[in-house]
Amino acid sequence: MKRVAIVGAGVMGRATAWALASRGAEVTLHEQFELEHDRGSSHGRTRIVRLSYPDSEWVELALEARAGWAELERETGRALLDLVGLVELASSPEATSAAALAAHGLEHRVLSEGEARALGVAPPEGWTAVLEPTGGIVHADLAMRALLDAALSRGARVEAGSHVESPDALDADVVVVTAGAWVRRLVPDVPVQVTRETVAYFAREGPPLLSVVELGEGGGHLLFALHDPRFGVKAGVHHAGVEADPDEAGEPDGDVVRRVAEWLRLRLPDVDSSPVAAETCLYTTTADERFVLDRRGRVVVGSACSGHGFKFAPFVGRRLAELALA
Ligand SMILES: Cc1cc2nc3c(=O)[nH]c(=O)nc-3n(C[C@H](O)[C@H](O)[C@H](O)COP(=O)(O)OP(=O)(O)OC[C@H]3O[C@@H](n4cnc5c(N)ncnc54)[C@H](O)[C@@H]3O)c2cc1C
Repeated sequence: MKRVAIVGAGVMGRATAWALASRGAEVTLHEQFELEHDRGSSHGRTRIVRLSYPDSEWVELALEARAGWAELERETGRALLDLVGLVELASSPEATSAAALAAHGLEHRVLSEGEARALGVAPPEGWTAVLEPTGGIVHADLAMRALLDAALSRGARVEAGSHVESPDALDADVVVVTAGAWVRRLVPDVPVQVTRETVAYFAREGPPLLSVVELGEGGGHLLFALHDPRFGVKAGVHHAGVEADPDEAGEPDGDVVRRVAEWLRLRLPDVDSSPVAAETCLYTTTADERFVLDRRGRVVVGSACSGHGFKFAPFVGRRLAELALA
């Protein structure tokens, strides 16, 4: 039986532990902090899930990940996704994900301005809004717990408060590094940048808001809003933060909060755009927002989920497990 050590118990480390333990490996998951800390990238209550990506390759990965979430829900008997729908806003019909969704036979609908407004979303003038009924949210906190429990119930061990200085320090056949913003401390040549991003919360009551993603130039998401079970709405700007040292504490950026509030006022006019809370979260980013999933001898690196990785965790976990057992 292969002995695999995993460094980092964020969503990627936990998904990898689950995938490896399911394949019969002897797994030890090391986390430098307590398990439910908020100093990395995976804390908080919700993340957007969507199959909508303008690039068909990402749609495929999102579908594979979606199957993994369904498997985790079955295995743990817990509901983790809330598929309340997602509205994507883009500057032209060609810039939306409609063609990529259609190529995979996935349900979606281009909305008229009136239809978008009836859903509470006000697109910029001349823009296109596409509804993906199967988009929505993953309950991030519940998903983190479920991944860990599924891994533990299949025999994985977890060591919290276990800071790993180097992969060489671990007695294992293979070491998987899923250290998020700290990855370069363990594998220095991983080509990533770390930034501290700000998300803001807004008060809203009633049934969960559908998720909203506004695409920027180049097809990446630029601004987003989603349901938050505590306050009502969570919203943020993609890549508005400055480069950060993950070991230093950081405060929410007031300018970003104001920008998000103004966007919310324009795009979700039924929501009160006075922020009620804000927090930060670390992005670990590659230049093209793709993931690093590599094997280098005894070390496997999984990194750079670039602000959109959570939804892909079951896919990332499976790939890293395959690399570790190869
Ligand atoms: C503001 C924000 C909004 C986002 N929104 C979305 C969204 O809507 N949809 C979506 O799909 N994704 C979203 N994401 C992205 C997603 O949350 C991340 O891709 C994901 O959480 C990354 O997880 P991770 O496991 O790589 O990193 P982390 O969660 O940071 O985990 C890494 C872990 O490794 C531990 N560690 C590091 N070094 C060591 C060491 N030497 N020894 C032991 N342990 C160590 C750390 O303490 C940490 O717990 C968002 C991210 C942010 C920041």
